[in-house]
Amino acid sequence: MTLLDGREVRKKLLDDLKNKLDKLDRRLGLTVIQIGSSDSSNIYVKQKEKLAIELGYKFNCIKLDDDVLEDDVLSLIDELNDDCNVDGILIQLPIPDNLDSRKVLDRISSKKDVDGLTCINAGRLICNKECLIPGTALGIMDIFSYYNIDVSGKHIVIVGRSDLVGKPMFSILSNTNATVTLCHSKTKNLESITSKADILIVAVGVAKLITKDMVKKECVIIDAGINVVNGKLCGDVDYDNVVDIVSYITPVPYGVGQVTTVELLYNVYRAYELNKKD
Ligand code: NDP
Repeated sequence: MTLLDGREVRKKLLDDLKNKLDKLDRRLGLTVIQIGSSDSSNIYVKQKEKLAIELGYKFNCIKLDDDVLEDDVLSLIDELNDDCNVDGILIQLPIPDNLDSRKVLDRISSKKDVDGLTCINAGRLICNKECLIPGTALGIMDIFSYYNIDVSGKHIVIVGRSDLVGKPMFSILSNTNATVTLCHSKTKNLESITSKADILIVAVGVAKLITKDMVKKECVIIDAGINVVNGKLCGDVDYDNVVDIVSYITPVPYGVGQVTTVELLYNVYRAYELNKKD
């Protein structure tokens, strides 16, 4: 069994990105809009800020009250879209229910949409056109590439169909010639599907959802889940009981989570490149 160590992939990505940033004649700008201030949003924004500052980005977090008017959020996004010092814009999710999240996300210029969540980017990804792609999905592809895991022709099962992980993974993997099955909470007989996977990607948010009897011997497991059980971080896969029968597996922590934020900040560079073409 080989451990897919996200820390190694992270290091390589950071080296690549720093090389690219060194060649630029200006600092890149990332603006995060945070609406309301839940503890988890505060933690995720801080993580982004820390790495953005380390990379020399101009980082700005605009905090709005949770009763902010939708029109005010849309006007703010318009201003940021027009600001040439802002290369990337991100709305920290979730946002309050009184706002239409699809409308708010889609107001971001598709060329500044560093989370890859606008309909334009999601659609372009399906069509295999140049676009900004959610960081977690990119991170998983970079883990495959770092460990020379070829996805072409493989039967890949994804559990979880979120816009951030499952759906973009489905598009990328279909475009890279894998045979992909996408499962979700309404899928019947999940184990009969997961147990046929050459590669199993799980992003659900339920600790130990995937047990030993649900996986094929020698398969590859990518566990994107992040759960806290008795104060300890764990994924969606019953790691201790599965680890001995698989050929590769990402641990939690130190797996997929290690690469996601780096990919997001890499996306700011990718956004800069896209805007330069205009
Ligand atoms: P969402 O809550 O948006 O989506 C969860 C998905 O899992 C849904 O498609 C849901 O199905 C499906 N699901 C729920 N229960 C089951 C079940 N019992 N069997 C099969 N499918 C089920 O989650 P996210 O994608 O945002 O996050 C998923 C997990 O990944 C979380 O733990 C999150 O913390 C983690 N995550 C980790 C990242 C990283 O960097 N490592 C980045 C992003 C997320 P349905 O659509 O039918 O509701």
